[in-house]
Formats: sequence, C-alpha cells, structure tokens
Amino acid sequence: MLNVPSQSFPAPRSQQRVASGGRSKVPLKQGRSLMDWIRLTKSGKDLTGLKGRLIEVTEEELKKHNKKDDCWICIRGFVYNVSPYMEYHPGGEDELMRAAGSDGTELFDQVHRWVNYESMLKECLVGRMAIKPAVLKDYREEEKKVLNGMLPKSQVTDTLAKEGPSYPSYDWFQTNSLVTIAIYTKQKDINLDSIIVDHQDDSFRAETIIKDCLYLIHIGLSHEVQEDFSVRVVESVGKIEIVLKKKENTSWDFLGHPLENHNSLIPRKDTEDPYMKDSYIRKNINQRRETFIFTFNPDVVGLYYRKCQLISKENVTHDTRLFCLMLPPSTHLQVPIGQHVYLKLPITGTEIVKPYTPVSGSLLSEFKEPVLPNNKYIYFLIKIYHTGLFTPELDRLQIGDFVSVSSPEGNFKISKFQELEDLFLLAAGTGFTPMVKILNYALTDIPSLRKVKLMFFNKTEDDIIWRSQLEKLAFKDKRLDVEFVLSAPISEWNGKQGHISPALLSEFLKRNLDKSKVLVCICGPVPFTEQGVRLLQDLNFSKNEIHSFTA
Ligand code: FAD
Ligand code: NAP
Repeated sequence: MLNVPSQSFPAPRSQQRVASGGRSKVPLKQGRSLMDWIRLTKSGKDLTGLKGRLIEVTEEELKKHNKKDDCWICIRGFVYNVSPYMEYHPGGEDELMRAAGSDGTELFDQVHRWVNYESMLKECLVGRMAIKPAVLKDYREEEKKVLNGMLPKSQVTDTLAKEGPSYPSYDWFQTNSLVTIAIYTKQKDINLDSIIVDHQDDSFRAETIIKDCLYLIHIGLSHEVQEDFSVRVVESVGKIEIVLKKKENTSWDFLGHPLENHNSLIPRKDTEDPYMKDSYIRKNINQRRETFIFTFNPDVVGLYYRKCQLISKENVTHDTRLFCLMLPPSTHLQVPIGQHVYLKLPITGTEIVKPYTPVSGSLLSEFKEPVLPNNKYIYFLIKIYHTGLFTPELDRLQIGDFVSVSSPEGNFKISKFQELEDLFLLAAGTGFTPMVKILNYALTDIPSLRKVKLMFFNKTEDDIIWRSQLEKLAFKDKRLDVEFVLSAPISEWNGKQGHISPALLSEFLKRNLDKSKVLVCICGPVPFTEQGVRLLQDLNFSKNEIHSFTA
C-alpha cells in the first residue's frame, strides 16, 4: 500500500519540493501524486475524449485546443490531450499551458527531457501530427550527399562556423575481418569517457561528447558484426576509432544507411556554455530553426537507454544498498566523474525514470577505476524509501533482472581540478554519491592537491554510508579529513551535531594558504544544497570555487 500523507504534496521538507534544475514544484492536491495518475490511466477511463480513436492532427486543429479544459500538446510529432493530467503535473498547470495548442517539444526538452512521457501519457494520445510532405526527411537521400561523413554545407550555418566548435566528421575503412569507424572530433580533450557506443542487431550508434554538444553517428550497418568491439582514442589529434569485428570476412561495399539524426551535432541539455544555452533558448522562443546554429532534427534529443543486468546487491546501511549493474557487451559507456544517469523501470505498466550517480565499487580497493574498454560494471549507492515510488521497485529486482540505464548527464567538468590545492566536499545523505568518484580521483590524480576535507551530514550514525571505509581512507591518506555531522544523534555521540550552518562552515572551510586554488563541492537534498551555496557565498567563495550538484 502506498502511504499517501494527508498534507499537501510534495511534503514541505521533501526532496520533491523543488524539481531537478531548481524549478519550483507546486503543491499538488491530495490524491494527485504520480501513483494516483498511474492508477487513473489504468482505470479504463477515456482520457482523450475520442474513445480510443487515434486521429491525424493538423496544425490548425492543434491550435484550437488551447484551454485548460481542452488542452492538446504536441511532443515529437505526437499529440496528447493533457487536460486530465493538469492537476497531476508537478510543475503545475501554468507550465503545461505554456505549450497549449502548440508543439511543446522544445519546452519539454528544456525542463524534463528524461521523463518518459510516452509511457506516462499514453492514455492521453490523440494521434500524430499530420506531416507536410516537404518536412519529411529522407536520411538515405541525405547521406548520399554526405561524402565520407562530412556534414553537408547546408547543415552548418555561418554562426556555427564562426563561433561553434570545430565541426566533427567521420570516416570508415575495413580489412578482411574488421571495420573501423573513425570519428574526427577536432578537439584535444577527448578521452574514453567522451564516447558512448551501442549496437544492437544492425543498428550502430555512437555519441561523442564534444564540449557542450553531442555528435551522433547512427547507422543501420550493411552487414552483420560481432557483439564485442573495441574503442581507441588518439588524444593528441582528437580521433576516436571504433573497431567492429565482421561476422563474415567479406568486403563491404558501403558502411550502411543513415538512421535518425545520423551525423548531427546536438547541444547538450546540461551545457554550462552561455552561448549554447542562449542559442537553445532563442530557438525555443523565436520561430523554429531560423536563428539557431544547428539544423539537426530538433525533435529527437531524448536520452538513449540500454538494458543492464543486476549482478549484485549489497546492504550498506539499514536503508542503502550498493547495486552493481552490468552493461551489455555491445555497449561502451563510462560515466564521467560528477555525472549521473537515469534508471528506468516499468512500474505497474508505466515507465518511470529517476536520476542516480554512479560510484566506484569501494573507496578502498583500487583508488583508480579500471579505465579499460571492457569496463562493464556500474555501481550505485541507492537509498530505499519504503514509501517512495521507484526505489522499492528497484529493491525488488532479483539478480539477473534488467534495468534500463541512460547515457550520462551533468555539467561537472574535470578541468575544475587543474592545479587544485584544497578540495572541500559537503554531502548530506545520498548526496555523498558524487563525492565517491571525486575522492578517488582527487587522491590519485591531482598532483597539486594538498588537502581534501569531507563534511558528511546525516541524521544518525546508522545512516552514514561507508563510514568505516572513509575512516580507513583518512587514516591511510593524511591529506584526507572526514567530519561527520548528525542532526538526530543519540546522546552518546560526541561528534558534531546539527545542520549546515555558518558556524560549522566557517570553522571547516579553512584554506591552506591565502591564495590557494580551492574547490567546494556540495550535494544533498535541494534545500540543503541551496542553503549551503548561500553560506559559501557569504564566506566569500567565488562562483568558480563552488560546484553544486543538482539534476
Ligand atoms: P519518491 O517517490 O520520490 O519519494 C521520496 C520521498 O518523498 C519518500 O520519503 C516518500 O515517502 C516521499 N513522498 C512520496 N510521495 C509523497 C506524497 N504524496 N506526500 C509526501 N511525501 C511523499 N538517490 C540515491 O539514493 N542515490 C543516488 O546516487 C542518487 N543520485 C541522484 C542524482 C541526481 C542528479 C538527483 C537529482 C537525485 C539523485 N538521487 C539519488 C535521488 C533519486 O533520484 C530519487 O529521488 C530517490 O531515489 C527517491 O526516489 P523514489 O521514487 O523511490 O521516491
Ligand atoms: P536525509 O537522510 O533526509 O538527510 C541527510 C542530512 O541532511 C540530515 O542530517 C538532514 O537533517 C539534513 N537535511 C535535510 N534537509 C535539510 C535542509 N533543508 N537543510 C539542512 N539540512 C537538511 O537525506 P537523503 O534522504 O539521503 O536525501 C539525499 C538527497 O540528495 C536527495 O534529495 C537526493 O535527491 C539528493 N541527491 C542529489 C544528487 C545530485 O547529484 N544532485 C545525488 C545524490 C543525491 P534532518 O534530520 O533534519 O532531516
């Protein structure tokens, strides 16, 4: 039974009070939680007003449905009647009404690209947008114009040429048994974290992260290849090589045919680059496509998911578990430090996604994660909320079951560590998760580092994740200090008590030297993080010296 408290939702201290990205969530009426919505969609009630009939919707028709009680929105070419959903929308009715009677894809992608709306809104589906023949894109035709992976001139505007990143391209070559796809990123800060490869059946997909964009190769291969493959990065020239093994040793006449959004450069949602952000927003506000620097198909920028198998599950505290997932053999993915992924599970027939931050399997064993192409395991420290929606379902998974895992997101940049001398980490509860890889990296890969200090806020001693590992690590490496702060300790606790406060921080955040290069990372419940950032600013830490983790 789901415990639905009587007060407004989200509860005042609930982490759901403020949405990812800092948007305020509105209090929902009782009986209007996500679970209530799922129940309504399963009730058999006609939610579209069309009695299950699917129609083709013209732009003129869409425009007419622009009122709260008759509100249609188009997302990626599909039209939904969202009026029944209004009261259940965590962002409130007004936010939904911004897209009433129009194409809401771009607004949607700005705010919650990761939400699986197809599943959430499937009972609200009115039909497809009627497509004007001129808009139809024939990717095969397009590829014919593409020579060896160079993007057609028409797809790169002057603005991109002048101000955007140097444009990537790809090429391929073969031997009797191998096919190599080479991606020329034209960037030097490329590594194995920068490339994500998935291939399934004949579909081959490679996402390369190039600054604040994602360069996508998406091809239906002309011949079969084996499941495993290798990825090499030549950092000095920014080249990535993906070596596929042919199933049959025959010569391929061509690599394959282009699939959706093949050979496109897509701005990432989590970009910190104001130029890119601005372009993205401008595109959303003004007429479509004109002022924008890219001419990729803007309708497909959703995150890509692959199915991963649960390998092990271990208790870490009374309510937190270490999950180990195995990537499919046909995937190359390494989640960069400080980034998160989304996990997706069907819950009573509706696909639900939530963000989680991968950790290393332990703080102690090898400090360095094996950065090998065959690095196939992803670990998560996840707190199970017995009254939550997603985590109880995750906890019910058996070894061998599958969970979908998205490509990574997040705006933490490893370049923040360059020449770093003092690193301060402020974590509350599972806000400790991004700190795990940061700690490992800092203690092994930053030669300039003099001191790392972790202040870890929890309710009780029993809630402290990896306490003994942290203590052992601090004992082993004198550069590390760990301080636990408890908000609800037992009377015998003789450590620090309370919540994040000016007194605690001013004592804790002492620079080694007056002008030392400092970084403070903070993560926890949103109000904790927001308060922490305000306090850090009051203590004269500059914007560049603070990194707060949010979605
Ligand atoms: P929810 O359904 O969201 O419930 C959470 C709490 O709200 C519960 O206490 C529940 O009782 C309460 N609640 C639910 N419904 C109501 C209601 N109607 N009224 C009042 N209260 C209610 N978590 C981790 O454990 N590990 C991670 O690595 C991690 N990484 C994250 C990374 C990012 C970028 C972000 C934004 C979050 C991360 N989280 C992480 C949190 C995670 O995404 C989920 O929010 C968390 O697991 C809870 O999900 P849930 O669906 O089980 O609970
Ligand atoms: P928790 O156990 O409820 O709280 C941990 C500590 O933080 C407790 O001492 C708690 O004090 C304190 N705290 C809670 N809210 C506070 C506030 N408003 N101001 C000051 N202190 C506060 O934490 P949790 O359940 O593990 O939740 C962890 C949170 O981190 C979740 O919201 C999760 O979404 C977030 N997270 C974010 C990321 C990311 O990358 N963005 C990654 C991982 C986790 P009390 O005893 O008073 O409650």
